Parts: sequence; structure tokens; C-alpha cells
Amino acid sequence: MTPLVDGFGRTHTYVRIAVTDRCNCRCMYCMPPGGIAPRPKGDLLTFDEIARVASICAGMGVTKIRLTGGEPLVRRDLPVLVRLLRGIPGIETVSMTTNGVLLAENARVLRDAGLASVNVSLDTLRPERFERITGRPGPDGVVAGIDTALEAGLDPVKVNMVVMGGVNDDELPDFVEFARHRPVEVRFIEFMPFRENGWAPAGMVPQAAMQERLARRYRLQPMNGGPGGKVRGFAVEGAAGSVGFIAPMSDHFCRACDRLRLTADGAVKPCLFDGGEVRLRDALRTGAGDDTVAAMIRSAVLAKPAGHPPAAALAAAGNRSMIDIGG
Ligand code: SAM
Ligand code: SF4
Repeated sequence: MTPLVDGFGRTHTYVRIAVTDRCNCRCMYCMPPGGIAPRPKGDLLTFDEIARVASICAGMGVTKIRLTGGEPLVRRDLPVLVRLLRGIPGIETVSMTTNGVLLAENARVLRDAGLASVNVSLDTLRPERFERITGRPGPDGVVAGIDTALEAGLDPVKVNMVVMGGVNDDELPDFVEFARHRPVEVRFIEFMPFRENGWAPAGMVPQAAMQERLARRYRLQPMNGGPGGKVRGFAVEGAAGSVGFIAPMSDHFCRACDRLRLTADGAVKPCLFDGGEVRLRDALRTGAGDDTVAAMIRSAVLAKPAGHPPAAALAAAGNRSMIDIGG
């Protein structure tokens, strides 16, 4: 097995798989205001096609899979896919990133199918604001999803908050308090620019500013960074949970990037911020052998750029929108 190493020596062991381009939310930082036209269902990879790509990736050293979207829980029978992926030799963990709306009713069955852990997106604890940011009522249903995931034993349960200046950045302490009472890791994420997502420099609160604000109220004790050094975790005195920062804009972590993305329509996208992708779907459907598909994946990895340009240049570049790529 030759590992998936790119032109800069980075070995890829982690694949994020978007299982759908559909969503039951319309988050202002993700979905363009006019929405996106969902692709015909036949354009999306089937579970068997996803499992085949995952298995070919596992043969090249991939050990970790994260299911994402769109919203993964709107794809019917998701536990069936989790079970298929867990059965692939070499795949050690299957996890999921979700908006949490349908998590309370799905957490146990997903755990039984072999899901290890979950990241839940939650950007505000205030109902009126929740509706403004996501386009649907909340956040009680999402909080119930988080609590059910904890009860079901998914581990870890992480909470992702996209911090937007003037929108929800006054809630940083409220999320620390959220972690005080629950064994979750809250991750404060810098707002990233994508096509038509309203990004402006003033809306991006850098990690340093978030950290400084929190340090006025809390003693944050540094913990070990996550794989690839992306998350900087901190324990909060007296809290059941912890907090962390993801700083793709102010201190991007491209040098340690070990991830690939598979879009819902079957393209391998090695960098979130680069237009380069290699489309596998037609090859999968016209009888390409595993060696051919593996070579296509390898070619995508070899074309991965060293890093992404600064935020303002990205904002002007017109990348696919986040919902379309799969987070
Ligand atoms: N629907 C699922 C969810 O919301 O968790 C999975 C897909 S979503 C695109 C994946 C992650 O991307 C979420 O945690 C979301 O908050 C994050 N995200 C989307 N747009 C973003 C942006 N402009 N800046 C930072 N994070 C973003
Ligand atoms: Fe949907 Fe997730 Fe994007 Fe929100 S962040 S619109 S929940 S895909």
C-alpha cells in the first residue's frame, strides 16, 4: 500500500464525505441567499459507490471518515452507510458533522451502527437569533440532540460555533457556560469566506481576539492540540467540558493538512479553498477498476496546493459555496 502523499509531503489519512447537498437549514454563512438548486438524486453517489471510494482510500492508508453534507441526517437510511463504512478493513473511525436538528431521534441508532462521535453546529443559544442565522426555529431541538448524543455514548461530542462579528460574538461566554455543564468541547470557528455568504473582514473575529475576550472572565488552561494542530483546546476551571479554537483564517493550518473531501456528486476535492477537483462518478459508473479510481484519487492529491491565499483574496475568488462542497 502506497500512502496518499501530496507534492508537499503531507500524508492523507482522513476523508470527509458529503452524503447529500440538501439541508434542512439555511445558515447565513453557508447557504447563498437564493439557496442552491439541489442536484437530481441520480447525480449523488449511492451508498455502495461511497463505500467503494472509501474502501479504495482505505487501501491507500485512510483510517478516518467524517460524514457531512449539506445535512447528513436528511439522507435517508444513513445508519446503513455507517455500517457499510465501519465494515471496511482499515477504517478505524466514522464520525459525523451535523446541524443537530434531527440528532435526538437518530443518535442511538447511529451509535448502534458504529458511529463513534459527532460534531454539532450551534451558533447561538438565543431563539430569535437562531432563527435569523439558520432560518428555522431553535435551538432547543439542537440542544436536545447534543444531550441525546452524550447519553448515547457518542464520544467526543463537539459543538461548532461559527463566530461572526456583530452577529453572535457576544455569546462566547454563554458557550463557555454551556460547556461548564456538559462534557462537550465547544469549538469557536473563524468565519470563512465562500461564494455569496456575506463574508466581510469586519465579520471575521480572529482567534487572538476571541481568546483575549474570554481571558478577561475565565482561566483557560491549554491542553494538547488536535491532530494536525488545527484545534487549540483549553480546559476551563470547574467545567465538565472544554473550549477550543479553529483558526483557518488568522493562522491557517495548511502545512499539517491531512484531509480530502468527497463531494456528494462524487468529486475528490483536496482543498476546501481551491477549485481543483477530480470527478470520480462517471468513472465509477462506467466500469473503471479500483486501480483506475485509485490513480484518479492520487492525481487529485498530487494537485493539492501548498496552502490557501489570505481571506480577502478567497472572498473574491468565487469558490463553490460551503453547502455545495460539504463542510
Ligand atoms: N450541515 C452540517 C452542519 O451544519 O454541521 C454539516 C455541513 S456544514 C457545511 C459543516 C461545518 O461547516 C459546520 O460546522 C458549519 O458551521 C461550518 N461552516 C459552514 N460555513 C462556514 C463558514 N463560512 N465559516 C466557518 N465555518 C463554516
Ligand atoms: Fe446546512 Fe450545515 Fe450549511 Fe447550515 S452549515 S446551511 S446546517 S449545511
